Amino acid sequence: MRLDSAARVGEVGYFTMEVALDQSMPTYSGGLGVLAGDTLKAAADVRAPLMGITLLYRAGYFRQRLDEEGRQTEEPWEWDPREFLTPLPERASVSIEGRDVAIRPWLFAIEGRDGHQVPVYFLDADLPENDPWDRKLTGTLYGGGPRYRLAQEVILGMGGVAMLRALGHRPRIFHMNEGHSALLSLSLLAQEVGSEGVATASAEEREGVRSRCVFTTHTPVPAGHDRFPVDLVRRVLGDAETEGLESAGCLRDGELNMTYLGLRCSHYVNGVSMRHEKISEGMFPGYPFDSITNGVHAETWTSKPLAELFDRNVPEWRRDNRYLRYAVSISRDHVMGAHRQAKKLLLDEVKKRTGRALDPEALLAGFARRATLYKRHKLIFRDLERLRSIARWAGPMQLVFSGKAHPKDDAGKEVIRDVYRAAAELEGDIPVVYLEDYDVRLGALLTSGVDLWLNTPRKPQEASGTSGMKAALNGVPSLSVLDGWWIEGHVEGVTGWSVGDPWNVESDDERESDSLYEKLEGAILPLFHNRPDEYARVMRSAIALNGSFFNAQRMISQYVENAYLEEDERTA
Ligand SMILES: *Cc1c(COP(=O)(O)O)cnc(C)c1O
Repeated sequence: MRLDSAARVGEVGYFTMEVALDQSMPTYSGGLGVLAGDTLKAAADVRAPLMGITLLYRAGYFRQRLDEEGRQTEEPWEWDPREFLTPLPERASVSIEGRDVAIRPWLFAIEGRDGHQVPVYFLDADLPENDPWDRKLTGTLYGGGPRYRLAQEVILGMGGVAMLRALGHRPRIFHMNEGHSALLSLSLLAQEVGSEGVATASAEEREGVRSRCVFTTHTPVPAGHDRFPVDLVRRVLGDAETEGLESAGCLRDGELNMTYLGLRCSHYVNGVSMRHEKISEGMFPGYPFDSITNGVHAETWTSKPLAELFDRNVPEWRRDNRYLRYAVSISRDHVMGAHRQAKKLLLDEVKKRTGRALDPEALLAGFARRATLYKRHKLIFRDLERLRSIARWAGPMQLVFSGKAHPKDDAGKEVIRDVYRAAAELEGDIPVVYLEDYDVRLGALLTSGVDLWLNTPRKPQEASGTSGMKAALNGVPSLSVLDGWWIEGHVEGVTGWSVGDPWNVESDDERESDSLYEKLEGAILPLFHNRPDEYARVMRSAIALNGSFFNAQRMISQYVENAYLEEDERTA
């Protein structure tokens, strides 16, 4: 698949607070960063004219340690940017609290399949000419308080625009991956009005900015959106910029809401699944949302055994993921054989890390995501006696968990301890292991090595979710609540199974755990243990129906066609 669209689209600056590009670079915390990395990799594959902008994070995100009771502690994740990135000589600066803060770019070049390069610029404020506090601004991801975060967002948005100019880029489109970078619109407005000052901008000049901006929101809960009090904004940005925001109607209720700023300044806004589009419209009335459902970078997330299977049967799949549709005719024995190898890779890693030898013949269900309340890690443990009886009568099963809690999320940390408590109670009946330090490497092993991918978020809080897409690519069916992408990817008994009520019915722990048990007992375990060839049919359909669609090549082509191209180009 090629989208040689540079001439029609012009350059696109893709701004993101976090990005996962290499398993040894701690410049991401979770789904948002993984998505950004996959988007940029797919852009390189299809020759879409993107360039990424992010922050360097010398101190990175953290490494998780868990003691024998599941208590989380955090350790710094040491890394040396010079091993992965090239420092460039260009410089730019931004004003923070009246000080000029100098920034420099480090380059990571993503090379696509036929050599097309997508540059990713990591902005770094750790320069000797800066104040000690300013030097730490590109230090930790999601660390510090509001003042630190706002200063980081000035560097990302406004510093990013200045840096792209210094590097000689002239993007026609500025894509904000979530609200953190929305201040870039203020810099674009300053360019429109010249020396007059942003507070004097005319409606036409504001429209000029809107025509160049695209905004993607990822959060279906109001608390997830960045907001800063006006006096902090005034202190960090200065009077003129604050008045510019005010006169453009971007301050409301005494605060700067980064999502509103992104929405107001963009001609195209989207949610990350069809359901999330509707939720976002309810949260932000008056803004016409579109939806572009997330996808994952297929080559990154397909395990070696499955990739070899695809290479033998649908060799075009790497170049064009749509060919995965033809996985529907791969022999079921071969699908099972490749999966058995992927499962062994995971079981070996579990053995290495925990000393536990899981049973390759027992159904292994996986659950890995950030440890936080709405993800409901404990739903499957609601009735331990029933779970035991299901495993006894319908066939043996085992569970593997992983996930970090944000350092400040005490309730999330408690979730991990609860899983440990349930594991201790189930000892001897259902093996449950929790792997510490969830990261992209472990994510790949888990989504390809388990037999069933479990997801039980409280509706409608899962904007999209992408781990189930990684599982599907690897022939691993999902058992999931109907929320986010699964509303679109679910065909009952064909690509996996649903938990609980239809998507539009509110979550209810009791009904949903009942349904979870019923599906395990009545459908999944009997199929897995008694009719493995029928289980393999489901595995294969997950690849053919979902792997061929929920991938990042399809996603980036939708961004190019629906968001980046100008209206007349689109209809042409
Ligand atoms: C894929 C991935 C995520 C996002 O998965 P969700 O299903 O959205 O929770 C988060 N963290 C890591 C390490 C991943 O690999």
